[in-house]
Amino acid sequence: MKIVIVGGVAAGMSAAAKIKRTNPDAEVVVYEKGGFLSYGACGLPYFVSGVNDDWRKLIARTREEFEKSGIRTFLRHEVVKVVPDRKQIMVKDLEQGSLFLDAYDKLMIAVGASPIVPDVPGIRLPGVHLLKSMEDGLDLKEAAASPAVREVVIIGGGAIGLEAAEAMVHLGKRVRVVELADRLLPPYDPEITEPVSAELHRHGVSLHLAEQLTEIAGAGRVERVRTDRGEYPADLVILATGVRPATGFLAGSGIRMAPNGAIYIDREMRTNIPDVYAAGDCAVVYHRVMEEDTYIPLGTTANKMGRLAGGNMLGRRDKFVGTLGSAAIKVFDLELGRTGLSEADAKKLAIDYGTAVVEAMDHPAYYPNPTPIRFKLIYDKETKTLLGAQGVGAKGVVLRINLFAVAIHNRMSARELGMVDLCYAPPFSGVWDAVHIACNAVK
Ligand code: FAD
Repeated sequence: MKIVIVGGVAAGMSAAAKIKRTNPDAEVVVYEKGGFLSYGACGLPYFVSGVNDDWRKLIARTREEFEKSGIRTFLRHEVVKVVPDRKQIMVKDLEQGSLFLDAYDKLMIAVGASPIVPDVPGIRLPGVHLLKSMEDGLDLKEAAASPAVREVVIIGGGAIGLEAAEAMVHLGKRVRVVELADRLLPPYDPEITEPVSAELHRHGVSLHLAEQLTEIAGAGRVERVRTDRGEYPADLVILATGVRPATGFLAGSGIRMAPNGAIYIDREMRTNIPDVYAAGDCAVVYHRVMEEDTYIPLGTTANKMGRLAGGNMLGRRDKFVGTLGSAAIKVFDLELGRTGLSEADAKKLAIDYGTAVVEAMDHPAYYPNPTPIRFKLIYDKETKTLLGAQGVGAKGVVLRINLFAVAIHNRMSARELGMVDLCYAPPFSGVWDAVHIACNAVK
């Protein structure tokens, strides 16, 4: 059996590895339009900042290792068409410029998402960068190393924009963040993101909220960024305005897609076309609390979905347990984490919910450096079942959000989690941990 995988990073290579572990005789071919396989894009901001100075450390498994296990990999090869009736794909060799056909028994689409690039004058000027692929990271690191780059403007105040802001401050740049919405990090509720602006200001980042990019200007390279409210000097611009599924090449293939281009799949990663699977940022994902499909592009889910798709292409029938949209971010000296529904999600779904916002210390005052953690819990008003949790603080936040993730995954109530036997010793927590205290505030 020949399995062709399109896209060779998280979902694609998780599937390829799973297939080879399960059946070393399966023929696996991977087409990847970029120049790298199986890397952790999530580590790019820390490579750009110099916290990690070696891009090789981002590679989970090398091409040689994949090839050694019998997986055939083609880099800089873009799949431009899928013809399910003939079980064929058309591939463009990006170096030679030539096109050829290949056939599959099973096909997996794992093409991820592409950055959304605002359509404004000057957007293609040299000095305007993205931070999505390994190539973007290498380019940005090289550009930012120039001492002539002093003023950096980041467009977008989501997770990637803020991680890029931190990286640029780390490199000694003067940094501005321009964000269209009136607040940062939209997957989190305002009570949790509220300390983030102060943290950014404390590190010298200028914030321009509720401002829309209108133009990037300069003679031959970027010099200024214009918005609907001002004009700012810029030696370098980083676009971090979100992503959309990279599925344009599937138009006309008959593969069903959501209005945003995400491929509809079932919980076994099957598309509507026999023998065609999809996983990762190019596809919808089943949400365990919402009990419906949604679009949350994250590395965590891409890896799990990819592995499942790999097994299922070999005949298994494993179902994805569902995402909780669990995510975390470090913004200088703050950590934020979230899992399950936000209040905005609960409102949209018309759930009868309650919320509790609670501050508790990470450990008792009689051990040095106690720091406050703010949690927000979203719960079912009647049963007190936990639906979502978010937290912000200097330390100990994200691992505690993971506790909430396990509880929400298992549909526990706040009362149950509020009595779970968690570890206690003064350097780590109080006898009533911050998690207990937050849960026990749910009345
Ligand atoms: P991708 O990793 O995007 O891989 C898809 C591949 O398909 C790409 O290499 C692309 O070149 C290739 N491709 C596309 N079209 C074609 C085609 N037609 N033919 C051939 N190849 C094609 N997630 C988290 O969970 N936590 C984090 O902290 C986090 N931080 C992040 C930080 C940054 C800077 C970035 C960019 C992402 C971050 N993510 C994070 C998201 C995470 O990286 C993605 O969710 C994950 O990589 C998705 O995996 P994927 O395999 O679906 O897609």
